Amino acid sequence: MTFVTHVLFGVTCYIPISALLGYPPTLSGAALAAFGALLPDIDEPRSWIGRRFLFLSQPLRTFFGHRGITHSLAFCILIGALLGLLSHSYALPEGLALAILIGYASHLIADAVTPGGIPLMWPFKGRYSTPCTVRTGGAGEMVIFFVLLVGLVLAIAEFTAFNPDQFQHSLR
Ligand SMILES: [Zn+2]
Repeated sequence: MTFVTHVLFGVTCYIPISALLGYPPTLSGAALAAFGALLPDIDEPRSWIGRRFLFLSQPLRTFFGHRGITHSLAFCILIGALLGLLSHSYALPEGLALAILIGYASHLIADAVTPGGIPLMWPFKGRYSTPCTVRTGGAGEMVIFFVLLVGLVLAIAEFTAFNPDQFQHSLR
């Protein structure tokens, strides 16, 4: 999936999941969900995030390849554990740690919708993709993008604007 679809999917997942888990969605949470949704592509030096962290993206690409270890369930759990530690030590509020994790997981789901799939069970071999896939940047992704856009509007209406307290919170 492309940069914008990952960001949109991450934020669209973040709002309802965070609200349902008892963490009212916030703008900073949405920004971190977007960041989390870009994070797995740190294994590609040409990606948005990879260009900013070349000291990480180049070795990751060399040793594991693009869509390698960072696109696995094991790595997602590791990221979750690190975020849990950070929030446990009060360095990062729980709601914001959750936002990054939701974004990260959303990236793996989105990439699994493409024909290349993801190495979900790394270090075990095999790539996993959904039964129905769309090509990155193709017409199918365009359709997904607009469906997500509608989903985002509905999520904002349902989980933020209808509750004045939460809406105010989300504007901070
Ligand atoms: Zn990816």
